[in-house]
Amino acid sequence: MPIATIDPTTGKTLETFEPLDAAGVEGCLTRAATAFEAHRTSTFEERAALLRAAAGHLSLQREAVARTVTTEMGKPLRQALAEVDKCVKAMNWYAGRAAGLLADETPEPADVADAGAVRAVVRYRPLGPVLAVMPWNFPLWQVIRFAAPALMAGNVALLKHASNVPQTALLLEDVFTRAGYPRGCFQTLLIGSGAVEGVIRDPRVAAVTLTGSEAAGRSVAAIAGDEVKKTVLELGGSDPFLVLPSADVARAAQVAVTARVQNNGQSCIAAKRFIVHRDVHDAFAAAFVARMAALRVGDPAEEGVEVGPLATEGGRADLEELVDDAVRRGATVECGGRRPVDRPDGWFYEPTVLTGITPEMRIHREECFGPVATLYRVEDLAGALALANDTPFGLSSNAWTRDPEEQRLIARDLQAGGVFFNGMTASHPALPFGGVKRSGYGRELSAEGIREFCNITTLWYGAES
Ligand code: NAP
Repeated sequence: MPIATIDPTTGKTLETFEPLDAAGVEGCLTRAATAFEAHRTSTFEERAALLRAAAGHLSLQREAVARTVTTEMGKPLRQALAEVDKCVKAMNWYAGRAAGLLADETPEPADVADAGAVRAVVRYRPLGPVLAVMPWNFPLWQVIRFAAPALMAGNVALLKHASNVPQTALLLEDVFTRAGYPRGCFQTLLIGSGAVEGVIRDPRVAAVTLTGSEAAGRSVAAIAGDEVKKTVLELGGSDPFLVLPSADVARAAQVAVTARVQNNGQSCIAAKRFIVHRDVHDAFAAAFVARMAALRVGDPAEEGVEVGPLATEGGRADLEELVDDAVRRGATVECGGRRPVDRPDGWFYEPTVLTGITPEMRIHREECFGPVATLYRVEDLAGALALANDTPFGLSSNAWTRDPEEQRLIARDLQAGGVFFNGMTASHPALPFGGVKRSGYGRELSAEGIREFCNITTLWYGAES
């Protein structure tokens, strides 16, 4: 894939970039290793001052950065602005909390004595330069939610961003540079995915985090595994959205639309499979389909547009194949199901709802990355849970019920890294984020996220200490 800005609203290539050559990559790795030696011994106060300064610079460039995001990957401008704000908030959150999250821990005195020590301390020390392989769908947030904790932990960051968001990737590096981070603490590597292996295998790189598709995750984790390097994988999802009889159905239908089409439907934690109890199915379906059909599709830079184009031409082709396969096998198109006729340029697709889904349809098992929802009718909670878990993925999930017993069973049995009751999934710095099954492993955000790339060190002091 060329490293280029191709506006998905028009399909026009706006700018192309030369990838770094071997010498360029080597320079970045050398700078990262040098920067780590200084950054790892800095204090939390010093790191916090730098991260707050970076948050300030990002905030100052809010409008320009958001416009670049919208131009490169097509999300509505209002959502791009919200993404900038979310990053600023998370940077300040980690600047304020990291010292507490990584404070030394002292095990129980009796256990320490039993281990033969006069005292023991658990210390969270940094690991080294961490490579982040990131996707285009939240091109700021995915990077910041890795970089803010990594930098606060004393690590340094190497970013290999998706090839279709090079300007956003360079803007991010610029934000950290302007904030006064020493050279090498945060670097964008303009490289294609073929050059990732060499970076992972380089002895100066300590660990890798990847957010993206299952295929990319498998490849990166295999190489890192071969090098015995830690990985965190945040992969795809096909989150269920359960609606049960005690739910506020009107509210559920309203939130369901946002949960499906936010980011033009290209979110790992978007609700993708809507699983509705027979008692409320028809009421939910009527409201949901009407709202999906009424969404305003258009130029994402225009005020009031709710759904922009798919980010890439290939992404739209994949989506069309999934819908066509389902329709060929008997699914019913309740709304959408085609490209908008008034949008011949760019990679638009109408918000779509499909019913009559059967297990042999690809869309039943594969991730659907665009504004297409599948709607199922179930007989009871057991049926809802069985269907919800009938997927290779396990990222997040949504359950609409006010019944405490149903909530207890869902919290126990739903196979996912998150269960959001009576609301939609959203990431927040204070809450762990990640999945099970083919959605990956490891966690981002919260204390769990910042500790992923730490050397959790036992300090044991004998009687002579
Ligand atoms: P993708 O094709 O896997 O790309 C993600 C990143 O991986 C890009 O930087 C890409 O570089 C790189 N990459 C691709 N193949 C690679 C390989 N074999 N070796 C090394 N690097 C490789 O995914 P995408 O289409 O951009 O993003 C959509 C996917 O990401 C969806 O499955 C979505 O669910 C998932 N996602 C997950 C989360 C989460 O937190 N769980 C969040 C957001 C998105 P190039 O661009 O140069 O190919």
